[in-house]
Amino acid sequence: MTTEPVLTEAHRLPEKRSLRMVWSDGFSAELGYETLRGYCPCAGCQGHWAEEVQYRAPEVGVEALTIEPVGNYAISIQWSDGHATGIYRFEFLRQLCTPGSSLEEALP
Ligand SMILES: [Zn+2]
Repeated sequence: MTTEPVLTEAHRLPEKRSLRMVWSDGFSAELGYETLRGYCPCAGCQGHWAEEVQYRAPEVGVEALTIEPVGNYAISIQWSDGHATGIYRFEFLRQLCTPGSSLEEALP
């Protein structure tokens, strides 16, 4: 079986300003709001021709207001700066949380 693990839980930890995530294979991790906002994968943040999602430091201390499921493959996050068009695919979130991924070096 090569079934990709799916995100089964995502809830905000407002006092830590981070998002806690749990996957179907038992993996769990937390990502700070700044990290998530900075890695917003939408074309508006990344440019239409970006090959790999880059970290773009958010301007202000953003807060995640709501988390919405998108189909069964992603979540979207409504940010306090009014931005909500980013679709965070499960495998992308997992990549952000996984040591040794290519994105890790860029984490703040
Ligand atoms: Zn964006």
